[in-house]
Amino acid sequence: MSQSQVWHPFTQHALEPAIPEIVLTEGAYLHKADGTRILDAISSWWVITHGHRHPRIMKAIETTASTLDQIIFAGFTHEPAERLAKALVGLAPPGLDRVFYSDSGSTCVEVALKMALGYFRNIGAPRSRIVVMEHSYHGDTIGTMSVGARGVFNAAYEPLLFEVDTIPFPAAGREQETLDRFEAVSRNQHAAALIVEPLVLGAGGMLMYPAWVLTELKKIAEASGTLLIADEVMTGWGRTGTLFACEQASISPDILCTSKGLTGGAIPLAATLATDVIFQAHYSTDRKKTFFHSSSYTANPIACAAALANVEIWRDEPVAERIAVLSEKQAAGLQRFRDNPFFTDSRKTGTIAALDLRTGSSGYLAEIGPKLRAFFLERGLLVRPLGNVLYLLPPYCITGDELDRLHDAIEEAGERFGSKP
Ligand SMILES: *Cc1c(COP(=O)(O)O)cnc(C)c1O
Repeated sequence: MSQSQVWHPFTQHALEPAIPEIVLTEGAYLHKADGTRILDAISSWWVITHGHRHPRIMKAIETTASTLDQIIFAGFTHEPAERLAKALVGLAPPGLDRVFYSDSGSTCVEVALKMALGYFRNIGAPRSRIVVMEHSYHGDTIGTMSVGARGVFNAAYEPLLFEVDTIPFPAAGREQETLDRFEAVSRNQHAAALIVEPLVLGAGGMLMYPAWVLTELKKIAEASGTLLIADEVMTGWGRTGTLFACEQASISPDILCTSKGLTGGAIPLAATLATDVIFQAHYSTDRKKTFFHSSSYTANPIACAAALANVEIWRDEPVAERIAVLSEKQAAGLQRFRDNPFFTDSRKTGTIAALDLRTGSSGYLAEIGPKLRAFFLERGLLVRPLGNVLYLLPPYCITGDELDRLHDAIEEAGERFGSKP
């Protein structure tokens, strides 16, 4: 039995006795206590964008910590929050003019759901249904699990989850079914909001769909007065090739959630951006119309300063160019697997590449997942498959040689663990 008192997330301790200790992070690497290093091919669960410990972000954290720590954000404000809000409004799709801070992806999604219901209640036309997309993931709190796919992760908590309307995933060639279903469930005008992960469904298996589907979903939402919530917690900050994925569909959602890459991944922070219409529905001399939400660590000044430094990196460094180059390398890397019999469904959106290993079983609990993870870790690579789905979601500083190492290892994993059709 381990000596540690720590209970790790998404970890079956009975099956994972030895948990590596990390003592240093740098660029695309995690350094272990034993002196070896691990190539972080999943950006430490999708949070790191530029690379670990970007100097400019770390400097902003240091500098701000010399004057500010947490301050109550109800009735008080501070410069990092004000400047960041202005910057976010400038960068986000047009019309998202209000910024509500919180501290994690799950929380900013909870905030979005509450804003949507609060909006309809405050305008005197209550709506409470939420429409979700099949295979979605929006977080691990009760509310966000309710709007996410049901499965082994949340089976124990099912009695607490609220009911939603689900539209099918827009699989290639079947996109119209998704649109028709959304049209049908929104027609009676009971739906407060549709919540979607734009372009890429992350935890659901790196499932990808084209931008035009999102454009059409927005049109249907508008026609029925249903709000569109874009959960850009994973897709934001360049992941899909543009700063926000919604840009590729040329849409402005009514509410946009951002977290993971907001501070470049250095420190927790989240923001829910909303239209002025939603803000105005809460703006009243009637206290009952207040937006009743707060996290203790709302708009932590040090986190806001880290996010501002991230915004400055986007402004001053060729980040878009780096992303374009990485995106091309990911495409070229996938070419290697086109005719490989052990893999299927190779796909790419922006900096994210994914492919499915052909095995006897699939799904998150497929025995193959942990075996693959151990296989890569033995080779100094942090790759964490979603069941039989292998994906690379690296920090933007990763080099071509490092990607080659990953592709070599994936090829080897195919031969070792895959089965031919
Ligand atoms: C990770 C993720 C979340 C939850 O974020 P946490 O910070 O882990 O709470 C929500 N939505 C999407 C799309 C995510 O990928």
